[in-house]
Amino acid sequence: MRIFSGIQPTGRKHLGNFIGAIAHYVSSQQRGEGIFCIVDLHAITVAYDPGELRERLHDTTAILLAAGLDPDRCILFRQSDVREHTELTWLLSSVAELGRLQRMHQFRDKSLSQRELVSAGLLLYPVLQAADVLAYRAEEVPVGEDQREHLELMRDVARRFNARFGGGEEVLLVPEHRIPEVGARIMDLQDPTRKMSTTGGSEQGTVYVLDEPKTIEKKVRSAVTDSGSEVRCGPDKPGVSNLIEILAAVRRVDPAAVEAEFAQSRYGELKEAVASEVVDYLAPVRERYARLRADEAALESILEGGAGRARAIAAQTLLEVRERMGLGGARRALGGAPSGMGDTVSG
Ligand code: ATP
Ligand code: MG
Repeated sequence: MRIFSGIQPTGRKHLGNFIGAIAHYVSSQQRGEGIFCIVDLHAITVAYDPGELRERLHDTTAILLAAGLDPDRCILFRQSDVREHTELTWLLSSVAELGRLQRMHQFRDKSLSQRELVSAGLLLYPVLQAADVLAYRAEEVPVGEDQREHLELMRDVARRFNARFGGGEEVLLVPEHRIPEVGARIMDLQDPTRKMSTTGGSEQGTVYVLDEPKTIEKKVRSAVTDSGSEVRCGPDKPGVSNLIEILAAVRRVDPAAVEAEFAQSRYGELKEAVASEVVDYLAPVRERYARLRADEAALESILEGGAGRARAIAAQTLLEVRERMGLGGARRALGGAPSGMGDTVSG
């Protein structure tokens, strides 16, 4: 079983990222071959600072390692180190439907909030994301609920490619998303109708993985709740539902179990439990982070090792895609690696 997921190098990863994605990357290492990519090429589709990008990339790498990704058990790498991603993006853009890209929610939301240029890269973002996953013929993609639409587009791109160029074969594997049942959409604590987000949320409503315990307590205590006093989930109770969902995800139980436990409690008691359990949940990550982040040479060496292993897999896919699309000179023997590629898959 091959599992792939990408995460943006925004550095300040939040509780939503952690519960909805990172925690699942960590546990998936038990189930299969995990390939995790820090997607700096995606990050350049909105306004950014080039010097900052490298810093934030190291921050994100250290957070993932601190959370429990183990470079001996998974492949962890930087997207821009593996050029196959960019080449495959162009090749797949010929089977990606323009109208569908224009209708993507993320494109519409992010282009509205861009103050300057709305780049063509922002429109092509989901094609790059399709290339990320399809290059590895990954079977499973753990992501949060907000990525459902992009995953559907990716599946469509793979199917169209196979129909157009596959000659009856599944050259590109159509991946399955793995969206968690609990915690796939953690909401902003100050505005529980919007997802907790790196770029779009409120500072007070976003709990960062690296926040100090006191800051986390303050943010949770000041979370917006709903009218009434009953602790239960429901569409009329977005704030309380979100707190119940967070506690359920952190405890790895069903939200109904949390509801039952707090049925006789007030909002304040629920908030206290969420605050203290989120603090305990994130504390070990923050502690390990400080040590890991300090050694940039070690981080770079992990990323380099990961890139070598990733490239070996992606290059094979590109060879076949180019062949099927009639690009470059015809290959003499199918399945043979071109000379000079060097890397082999290890681990
Ligand atoms: P942005 O808001 O700028 O898109 P982000 O907060 O979504 O940033 P990403 O790096 O794009 O951060 O997302 C990494 C992973 O976290 C993705 O799998 C995404 O689906 C998941 N994720 C993001 N926000 C949430 C959330 N609020 N709840 C659960 N999962 C989330
Ligand atoms: Mg996102």
